[in-house]
Amino acid sequence: MELRRKGVDVVSFGIGQPDFQPPPNVIAYAKEAMDAGYNGYGPSLGMPELRECIADFLNEKYGLDVKPDEVAVTAGAKAAVFIGMLALLEPGDEVILPDPSYPLYESVANFVGAKTRFVRLHSGNNYKIRFEDVEKLVSSKTRMIVINYPENPVGSTMDRKDVEALVELAYEKRFVVLSDEIYDHFVYEGSHYSTLQTDHWREVVYYVNGFSKTFGMTGWRLGYVVSNRELISKLSVIANNMYSCPVTFAQIAAAKALRDGLEWFKPILDQYRRRRDLIYSRLLSIRGVKVIKPEGAFYIFPDFSEVIRAKGVKNERELADRLLEEKGVVVLPGTAFPKEAGVNHLRFSFAVREEDIEKGIERIKAWVAE
Ligand code: PMP
Repeated sequence: MELRRKGVDVVSFGIGQPDFQPPPNVIAYAKEAMDAGYNGYGPSLGMPELRECIADFLNEKYGLDVKPDEVAVTAGAKAAVFIGMLALLEPGDEVILPDPSYPLYESVANFVGAKTRFVRLHSGNNYKIRFEDVEKLVSSKTRMIVINYPENPVGSTMDRKDVEALVELAYEKRFVVLSDEIYDHFVYEGSHYSTLQTDHWREVVYYVNGFSKTFGMTGWRLGYVVSNRELISKLSVIANNMYSCPVTFAQIAAAKALRDGLEWFKPILDQYRRRRDLIYSRLLSIRGVKVIKPEGAFYIFPDFSEVIRAKGVKNERELADRLLEEKGVVVLPGTAFPKEAGVNHLRFSFAVREEDIEKGIERIKAWVAE
């Protein structure tokens, strides 16, 4: 932002935020809700009409029987993860996290005093989590595994058999599967198989989703949890003391948005698929860059090891700094996610116009060639 203020033409692959606005009717619903007086506090676990709409939406999508009291609306998916970890983890409990993964999970696990164990995702397996690797990390102290699919930052998804095997393992060994499925509509190959479709979800799954990505509503701060009703009712204590309630008029609008369905999202998914194909092929055209094609989300995680070596750069952090300073291109260092798997890697968000993808990658290519 500082460089932009100075007049530098910056291309940003940085922030994980859709570049589209919420559908116009959803914005109109929020205005109407404010005019209708939805400006006060609401229930800590969310407005009943939205909890019901979320249950209906999931039931229709996956053929389930989720009840409204098995749903909690939260102030963003981040708050959903935070209050879940706060409710479920004690100091000394072990939590298994993917490496690489969204940094929130490690931060909150550390904050509550839990011990983190990382399961490495391998490019050779298209960054899909391997059941055998998880199994090896499970101990008598394991209290939770976090999975996120499609994944930030690698864009990997999970196959049905792996989701089922993992939930089954959690059921046998009595730990929780915190499943962050916030990118479930950004799937470019095949379809999304949810942890809520497994037999034992009520016993072990803490399902997280939200409106930020699919609806382009990052600033509205609306997320949700689905889990067993005893746990959901306990979350109200934390929610109440932390943020009182999610934003009231936003919830009324979100409920109507869910009722309207997602027909409007289809062209957006096609557009994001084109961007995925474009950034993948453009990155591959840079000498020395290796990259796995993401199956979902809007991130790609290329390996710049050879570039780093050839250019005599110290590491991915220095590489990211130099691309910004010398070429006005924003990328994130892979080690922000948050451990070793990101060494020599960069994360690109491709929630970016095709012209800017062309322009940004062309600049990196020129820098590599210089
Ligand atoms: N989970 C993942 C995997 C994310 O990438 C993000 C946003 N970057 C979030 C959760 C946060 O979502 P929200 O805006 O609903 O808090």
